[in-house]
Amino acid sequence: MNFSAEFPFSKIFLYIDSNIETIEHQNIKSFLEERTGVEVYVKNDFLRDKYRDGLAKKLAKTKVRNKRKRKFKEPLPKEIELENEIILENKELLGIIYDGHRLVKLYRKLLDQKEKRDHTIMITKRLIGTLEKNESRYHIRTVINTIPSVISVSGIVEGPAKPRKYYFADENEKENVLDFGPMQHSDERMESAVKSYLLQTIFWRLEGDPFCDKQGCCLYNSHWQKEVIRNQVDGELCEEHEEILDKFKKEDSV
Ligand SMILES: [Zn+2]
Repeated sequence: MNFSAEFPFSKIFLYIDSNIETIEHQNIKSFLEERTGVEVYVKNDFLRDKYRDGLAKKLAKTKVRNKRKRKFKEPLPKEIELENEIILENKELLGIIYDGHRLVKLYRKLLDQKEKRDHTIMITKRLIGTLEKNESRYHIRTVINTIPSVISVSGIVEGPAKPRKYYFADENEKENVLDFGPMQHSDERMESAVKSYLLQTIFWRLEGDPFCDKQGCCLYNSHWQKEVIRNQVDGELCEEHEEILDKFKKEDSV
């Protein structure tokens, strides 16, 4: 057995928020199983599944309060109540951004042992932002590659930027200034995009690097909407990454 080509996990636990209407659970499960040869367990709503006293408050403490600073504060009772309603009753989110580092730390504490050891991924509608030391403001993220990994469908829409001319155009001309359709919240292309980000989380676990610098490879680190369409929606794994995944898959199923 070639040890270097063995998957570092034997199962994938996938939690999908049930308020996401653009992806079909069965399609995602079959896609991941087909690509990895690893069994995938799908569940709904991670936070509802792991619900316990005090969770809503902890979640509210991860809210971004200032887009230029990593400063947090004690949430108001009303904010805690709102988080509870979002978790337990699927209440619609109202533009809240959560700090990615704090959020995954909270999620990690809720994982059981096997979810920590294997590969756990959440697909959520929550908007997640991170502010790194070399950045002046929070950036909305499409995916956070950590344990667990988190993919934000709202982040796929709002994170990667549209061309500059879009932001400068008059409101009623915005639709006409672009020669392509950027991702929308109810986009039928969302499932394809999510599949690409799922593969990024897999490559992060396999190689410590989720990205590829080749345009057209679905692991490309897209910063613009046009790149998301080209790489995550229409792209596939490049030959090199296809080979790597193949090697892992074959070794694993021997
Ligand atoms: Zn590649």
